[in-house]
Amino acid sequence: MTEDYDVAVVGGGLVGIATAWGLAREGCRVVVLDEGDRAVRASRGNFALVWVQSKGLGLAPYAGWTIRSSNAWGGFADLLKQETGLDVCFQRPGGFHLALSDKELEVRAISLKRLHNQPGIVDYKTEILDHDEVAKMLPDIGREVVGASYCPLDGHVNSLRLFRTLHTALNARGVSYRPSHRVENIAKDGGEFRLTTTAGEVRAGRVALAAGNANMRLAPMVGLEAPMKPERGQIVVTERLRPFLNHPVVTLRQTDEGTVMIGDSKEESTDPSGLTLGVSATEAGRAVRMFPLLANVNVVRTWSAIRVMTKDGFPIYDESETHPGAFVLCCHSGVTLCANHALTVAPMIARGALDKAMVAPFSARRFHVPTAG
Ligand SMILES: Cc1cc2nc3c(=O)[nH]c(=O)nc-3n(C[C@H](O)[C@H](O)[C@H](O)COP(=O)(O)OP(=O)(O)OC[C@H]3O[C@@H](n4cnc5c(N)ncnc54)[C@H](O)[C@@H]3O)c2cc1C
Repeated sequence: MTEDYDVAVVGGGLVGIATAWGLAREGCRVVVLDEGDRAVRASRGNFALVWVQSKGLGLAPYAGWTIRSSNAWGGFADLLKQETGLDVCFQRPGGFHLALSDKELEVRAISLKRLHNQPGIVDYKTEILDHDEVAKMLPDIGREVVGASYCPLDGHVNSLRLFRTLHTALNARGVSYRPSHRVENIAKDGGEFRLTTTAGEVRAGRVALAAGNANMRLAPMVGLEAPMKPERGQIVVTERLRPFLNHPVVTLRQTDEGTVMIGDSKEESTDPSGLTLGVSATEAGRAVRMFPLLANVNVVRTWSAIRVMTKDGFPIYDESETHPGAFVLCCHSGVTLCANHALTVAPMIARGALDKAMVAPFSARRFHVPTAG
């Protein structure tokens, strides 16, 4: 069976479906090919922050790119609500990175100073607050919290509802979503791409690779590259509590449904099926020191998931020189950058070319630096 589309999006995670929705808004006929439930999928296991502070240390344009998405998020959520009636509960009340010792606060302050001292960095507000200043906004913090960094641009969303909402919107716009269509091979034949999947062949004029860490294998098929270094994160979820936390903390947030998500560890493992109890215990222990009221709360869920992580941690957006019409998109922070993918990157792909001024810093060509010696 062969079928024809303007664009085939490979990967049905947040990056793929946000891009597919944006393409459909531009009038493209779109198919999303997804491996399916056996695949390792970051989009189903993330922490749901729409986060700005700390982004860009080592690659200044990433800060501007992140802020662009953060600023677009409110309008993006409204558009989704108009189309689907579903509220993804995006909020941007400002977020905290809490410190449990003077040393932690000092390290945090130095890191933010380095970030904001970089040439070309976009100017945005972050501040270091002491315990009393933090307590004005987070009255339930424990005595051990010595202070925090705060950024008014930080926010969060209901990430699984975002996933469902995007799928509802895709369906309404006639996008063909194909689970259990693992792409095995991609070839350019004449003017079109032929994608061989586990459930038949699909043809499309353009192809957008959004297969997370699997982009590493797929990108070279169309003259692109995506050097990846996946890492694991663990999350602990509590029972529902009365609302007590009006601002997300980088490692702890209260969802719109009342549960508290704790976590965001970083481990080198790429095994998504296991949990390291010591890691969960450390995350929970720090959470209790930050908010002592969590001490007697029941944990109802815990999971691990594998981050889509490029070799240097920054996004990759590229288009192929050898296979015009092929694009690769991958990033950590696919929740934060969702608005950019839908409203900025997708229109570029629909027009057939990435806006170099905007995304050139994110080309994988940055990895082509000769090694010393
Ligand atoms: C623990 C954790 C916490 C996180 N917290 C945050 C956060 O707070 N804020 C934030 O912005 N981001 C966060 N992230 C990151 C965010 O979840 C990811 O950036 C985002 O989900 C990546 O989406 P993706 O679509 O690129 O990848 P994925 O969700 O991994 O999707 C890739 C898709 O590609 C498909 N696929 C793979 N190979 C093929 C193939 N050959 N053919 C067809 N389909 C294929 C898979 O089926 C999968 O559905 C977190 C991630 C983790 C793991």
